[in-house]
Amino acid sequence: MAAADRKKTPILAGVVGWPVEHSLSPLIHTIWARRAGVDGHYIPLAIAPAYDDFAKAMDSLRTIGFAGVNVTLPHKDHALRYAQRASAIAQQAGAANMLTFDDAGAHADNSDVAGFAAALAGARRDGTAPANAVVLGAGGAARGVALALQAAGATRILVANRTRAKAEAVASDIGGDAVDWPARHDALAGADILVNATSLGMRGQPPLEIDLSALSPKALVADIVYSPLETALLKSAREQGRPTIDGLDMLMHQAAPGFREWFGADAVVDAALRAGLVRELERRSRP
Ligand code: NAP
Repeated sequence: MAAADRKKTPILAGVVGWPVEHSLSPLIHTIWARRAGVDGHYIPLAIAPAYDDFAKAMDSLRTIGFAGVNVTLPHKDHALRYAQRASAIAQQAGAANMLTFDDAGAHADNSDVAGFAAALAGARRDGTAPANAVVLGAGGAARGVALALQAAGATRILVANRTRAKAEAVASDIGGDAVDWPARHDALAGADILVNATSLGMRGQPPLEIDLSALSPKALVADIVYSPLETALLKSAREQGRPTIDGLDMLMHQAAPGFREWFGADAVVDAALRAGLVRELERRSRP
């Protein structure tokens, strides 16, 4: 389908994952589309984990005129492999969470990096950049977080991960240092920011065990897990008087580039959007 036809309404976009029903992206895009008066639909699409399933599904979405899709687990590296072109940041991250379809095929991008960078900028009211960072995790999201911290000026980034080889790979790509998973507590000494980028602490996953006592009192504590919204990590940090960033901030900001690209309208991250998402998380947590 030609690009000119693809722009016909209703505009179609979506999020591809396995599973995908937990995703808040459809709600975020629906709120923005309603605000902008855009005639469009953003649909959750469950696509089985194998690359072949993903590639066939992307071919079909392109054929029926989808403008693009967000991509979540386990397809973020598949998206990079499928695309004919990729942004520098997607190549650097080794993963893509956005595919935009056009006449030349698919263009891959990574808005997780900008999403965390925007969440971080919003939390740093005094304008100071964190110099010493500790990132827990070495998956796709952790890599995006580490790149954002690097871009924000962090000069020392420690990456602690259960699988040490993955921590070493991320640390080596960003010029940081790997830390053994059991040593994560001591690694917090002198850090200005701690980011949980593992899936630990998420509803249905094991808890994150971390002793914050080595962390300075003013250090920022961020968790990219957003279900529950206040994870046990953020609760402890708050009770100790530390500033915090929750996972919704990154989630809202990473969604904005896709909406602007595919629906051609502005995507404002504000308190009303957050309130809508918080209501949905509360609804989902009710028995
Ligand atoms: P991923 O690539 O599967 O990575 C998962 C990470 O969690 C790995 O570092 C893994 O360690 C670690 N982990 C899992 N189980 C563990 C356990 N029992 N003990 C210790 N470490 C464990 O996933 P991802 O895409 O990076 O996503 C990670 C989390 O971030 C998910 O909860 C996801 O929902 C969230 N996320 C949030 C946003 C947002 O916008 N807020 C965006 C993207 C992702 P190993 O390497 O040892 O397996």
